[in-house]
Order: sequence, then C-alpha cells, then structure tokens
Amino acid sequence: MTYTDPASSEAIVDLDAFDANLRHLREEVSPAELMVVLKADAYGHGLVPMGLAAVGAGVRRLGALDLDSALALRAAGVPDDVTVFAWLFGPNTDFSAAIRANVDLGISRLSELQGIERADAGRRVRVHLKIDTGLNRNGATRAEWPGLVAAALELQQRGLVEVYGVWTHIAEASEDEDTVAMERFERAVAEAEALGATITVRHLAASSAGLRRDDARFDMVRMGGHCWGIPSFDGVTAEDIGLRQVMTLQTGVALLRDNDHGGRAAMLPLGYADGLPTNIRGAVSVTINGRRYPLTDEIGLDSVMVDVGSGPVAIGDRAIFFGPGDSGEQSVREWGDATGTLGDEIVTRVAPSVPRRYVRG
Ligand SMILES: *Cc1c(COP(=O)(O)O)cnc(C)c1O
Repeated sequence: MTYTDPASSEAIVDLDAFDANLRHLREEVSPAELMVVLKADAYGHGLVPMGLAAVGAGVRRLGALDLDSALALRAAGVPDDVTVFAWLFGPNTDFSAAIRANVDLGISRLSELQGIERADAGRRVRVHLKIDTGLNRNGATRAEWPGLVAAALELQQRGLVEVYGVWTHIAEASEDEDTVAMERFERAVAEAEALGATITVRHLAASSAGLRRDDARFDMVRMGGHCWGIPSFDGVTAEDIGLRQVMTLQTGVALLRDNDHGGRAAMLPLGYADGLPTNIRGAVSVTINGRRYPLTDEIGLDSVMVDVGSGPVAIGDRAIFFGPGDSGEQSVREWGDATGTLGDEIVTRVAPSVPRRYVRG
C-alpha cells in the first residue's frame, strides 16, 4: 500500500479564464459597467487574488458585501479610483475605517445613515440607496423610501455623503417578476430625482438578468457566478454563453486495492471536510485519465473510494472532480444540476483547507 501526499488535493484557479470571462462580460453588458461581486471569499476562489486579478484586467468596480472584505481589498492594494462596494452591515457598525478607506456604502436604513453621521470620519462617503423591489430582504420599502432619500440628501448638504447610486436586488427567477421589480426600481429613481438627488449609477441586475436582458442593465451589472464561468440560468453550458469555468478541483489517487468484484477501488483523499457535498453520491463522477467513474460510495470525511474496475489508473494519477472539461471531466454546472443546487454553491463550499493554486497560461 502506497499513499501519495494528500496535500496533492488542490483547487486550481485559472486566471486567464477569469480574465477572458471578464472581457466577454464587459463587452456583453456595455455600455453598462461590470461590477465583479467577490462575496464569500470570491465564491471560494479567494477574495484578494480575484479582486487584484479583476483590477489587473481593467475592472473598475468591485462588490465586497461586508466591510471586512472591503477593507481587506483596499489593504491588499486595490487603488482608490476603483470602487469597492459593501452593503451588509451589523446593527451597530462603526463606519469610520470604511469611510477613510473610501468604501462605497449600500444603504438600506435610516439607522445606517445615522451610523455615518456618528462616524464623523472627516471625508465624504459615496452612498448607494437601496430600494426593496420585491425580495423583502433589505432595502427601503416604498413607504420608507422618501424619508431615506431626504435624510441622505441632508447629509449630502452637510458634506458627509455623496448620494451616488440607487440600487436593488431582484430574484432573477421569473421574467415577469423581474419586469415588475424593474418598474418599481425606475419609480424609486424618479422619486429620488424629484426630491433633488442626482443619481450617477443605477444598478439592479446580477449574472442572470444582466446577461439575458439589456433592459435590466441600467448603468451597472453586479456579477458573481458568470465571472467564475458558472452559468446562472438553465439549459446552457459555460461555452454556450462565451464563458469558461475558472476552478478545477482535483487530487491524486492515494491508494489502489482489489475489490470483491474482481476490479479495483481507488482512494481519493478528498471528503466532506474539504467541502464535497455528501449528496453527490450516486449523482456525479470523477475523471481519471480521461475516463469518468461514478462516485457511488459514501463520501467520507477526508476521502472517497471509487470503483475503477480495470481502467487505466495508477497511484498518483490525477483525479479531477470538476473542471472546465478539457480532460473529459464534469463541470460545476453538471454537479449543480445533478444535485439540485447552483454551481455557485459547490465552488463556494470548497473548504479553506484545500490549497488554491493560481495559474496562467
Ligand atoms: C450575490 C450578489 C450578486 C451576484 O449574484 P450572481 O448571481 O452570482 O451574479 C449581485 N448583487 C448582490 C446584491 C448580491 O448579493
């Protein structure tokens, strides 16, 4: 019995594929701008490396979700003229550091404006006011909206904020519902303007509506999934929509042994502690030397056994769980379809214990 180093498990992140996806998406949404959404550690790809790669590829807008991530991007060298946008805050957030670091704030509530007032950070912060258009997550209701806009304009007069954007988030699950949300959004923008606001950036769409509907793009589209080459709507591959999957999850065959039915079983040192969902069992395959082997065994904590019969498999061979498909492996899209989730969830769950390796060329 020979074991290879389990450290051979890795998530390869293809920065050239990422660049190409960004180029393609920017062309598709133009003249609207692309904001690359880097929440959840860039959906498992790595916040700082992907943020810097996006800036290197010419992207001028980054979405960070929370303030810690926004500050990490600035600390890593994202320049001041690139927008870093954060929009999810705890109830008693101290905004001082974020304002000093020139982070754009997505504002849903009066209490958040009061937080900016309290911070007194000595510089003006750009705010994007959020209207709820049907998701009922956060964002001002229609009734709260005029009050939120008026309060922001008052802070603008006092030099504390610049009312820069109006935005919302939509479900992107039904064309009709999205259309209704867009109408509500336009009404909110008009109302803000009637109250005296000059809105520079209006944004509503994420990956799905942003690619499918030019009427949903307004001035900017916020995309996560499509940047990683994971389709956000049904019935298409990444290639069909001009994208390439960025992440490949692979390991090395750690052990081979004869099994009861005259074949062999390979041990692959990746398990649920590394982020493999246990419900992939019986639904997806792993690819070794161009052949797919169904994952029918229980997914263990740190490993999984796969029946490789008499296939061409040796200890140390590369076993690909998912990737862009160059070696015949399944895509994250196929894993998502087979297990009833989005590919986004599968890449985001790949555990921090799995090393990311960033490659070009
Ligand atoms: C996650 C998120 C996005 C990006 O969503 P994708 O479907 O991955 O493109 C955009 N906007 C907001 C507010 C989000 O939370």
